[in-house]
Amino acid sequence: MTRETKYYKGSTDGKQPLSNDPLKGVADDYDLIVIGSGLAGLTAANVIARAGKRVLLLEQHYNYGGMATWFKRPGGHVFDISLHGFPIGMKKTCRKYWNQEIADSIVQLDGVRFSNPQFDFETTFDREDFTNKLVNHFGIPQETVDEFFSHLRAMNFYDDNHETTGELFERFFPGRNDVHRLLMEPISYANGSSLDDEAITYGIVFSNFMSKGVYTFAGGTDVLIKKMKQELVKNGVDLRSRVQVDRIVVENGRAVGVEAVGRRIGAGAVLSNASVHATAFKLVGEEHFDADWLQGLRDVRVNNSSTQVYLGIRAGETLPWVTDLLFTSTRETFDSDSLCDLHGESRTFSFYYPKTRPGSDRYTVVSSMNAHHDDWKDLTDEEYEEAKTRLAEDSIASLERYVPGITEKIDHIEVATPRTFEFYTQHPAGASFGTKFEGLPYSMNLHEQVPGLYHAGSVGIIMSGWLGAANYGVIQANKVDAWLHSLQEVNA
Ligand SMILES: Cc1cc2nc3c(=O)[nH]c(=O)nc-3n(C[C@H](O)[C@H](O)[C@H](O)COP(=O)(O)OP(=O)(O)OC[C@H]3O[C@@H](n4cnc5c(N)ncnc54)[C@H](O)[C@@H]3O)c2cc1C
Repeated sequence: MTRETKYYKGSTDGKQPLSNDPLKGVADDYDLIVIGSGLAGLTAANVIARAGKRVLLLEQHYNYGGMATWFKRPGGHVFDISLHGFPIGMKKTCRKYWNQEIADSIVQLDGVRFSNPQFDFETTFDREDFTNKLVNHFGIPQETVDEFFSHLRAMNFYDDNHETTGELFERFFPGRNDVHRLLMEPISYANGSSLDDEAITYGIVFSNFMSKGVYTFAGGTDVLIKKMKQELVKNGVDLRSRVQVDRIVVENGRAVGVEAVGRRIGAGAVLSNASVHATAFKLVGEEHFDADWLQGLRDVRVNNSSTQVYLGIRAGETLPWVTDLLFTSTRETFDSDSLCDLHGESRTFSFYYPKTRPGSDRYTVVSSMNAHHDDWKDLTDEEYEEAKTRLAEDSIASLERYVPGITEKIDHIEVATPRTFEFYTQHPAGASFGTKFEGLPYSMNLHEQVPGLYHAGSVGIIMSGWLGAANYGVIQANKVDAWLHSLQEVNA
């Protein structure tokens, strides 16, 4: 680390002060109030507004986007949090539910690389290349590979299939720890799933990527969210940031509005993009749910969290081409659980070159790891700072193996932990990908407990990530639309 290197201690944990009245000019009543501006909340708001309804969107943070976010730092650095890669399906979703301009900025990554003691190669991360690697590099018979892909493609979200991903891999590739690593490691980073989760949570996400590889948004997250905001405003959505929603108002068993900043605002329907646990337990209140249902929700496990190390390259410096996305590990063999270790040996590097933000000449690198909130939550301030420093140092040491001398080019280092993600999004335990699989029915059927109340947001592993969250926003918006129509008919 050079002397000029500025190490930001805990700076990601500070909130900006509140400005005047963030609800100034807000009406007394809307068709729909959306709580939270994650990709699910934003997409649901846009779909309902385009259907001609009056929509209010309330976000507690000063930025919109939830975990689809970015931050700027002195020295001209812009860091993306969750822009590492998503499946091609995001292009269609953006074209249909946002606009052509947003869809057109979605481009394929040029490089994805694996580098670990078991294998080291570039891949286009699609079915053709994975088939080639499995057959020619790993020596798996072509028929087995074809059967594996056919099996995954036939997987149905509605199937009652309790096979785990680990069992699925053993069935097709028994004893092949190296193959399990190839297939699992990237998906664990993409949706937090492990070998112990239901195979369906693996199959759907893996198949989505295998169709055409890994994509990104050219321009960066800041441009994406700016364009989404413009579209929302064009469609008449009343957008408000820095508004913490304190309560969802339920009257006569029905969601009829929210309370925020000491004001009550009415609505025909409320869609919460907050975590499903916070929605039921904090915003609505236990008295409005069946006891059995509540107990079931209490038992729903939240998914793991993440750590990230943001490395800013000094203005004027350049990086050689390495790849866009590097799955790297020094661990001899693959162990699914170890991906969440406090000081683990496996991490993903996202390299951001000037092409990330066309017109810019800047470079950044973000190192991401899966993490357990429990490992971080009880650390003293001193232990916390030490753990963050070690994480940064380990990440830079690992990066030096691929870009010798990079340490001298870094002039900004900053670390985010599960505590950071919890603070910014209010997700219990800083969950990066919502809940485990069993959370899905609780999210989908919230309106059966409290009519007029809907949830959309990372849940059940499947409905997570940029694509899953945006698509889930559409699914839930369609239910909201039907509900609003039924209200109109009653009132007619
Ligand atoms: C480190 C990291 C890396 C990731 N990388 C990728 C990736 O490369 N590709 C990918 O596809 N996905 C990635 N993801 C996952 C992806 O970012 C998320 O799944 C997705 O953005 C979640 O969207 P969401 O709609 O569930 O809402 P969230 O992003 O969770 O947003 C919820 C919003 O609700 C707001 N809110 C909560 N409570 C209230 C309240 N009471 N009042 C007002 N507002 C409230 C929060 O402030 C927040 O803005 C990553 C996630 C993390 C953490």
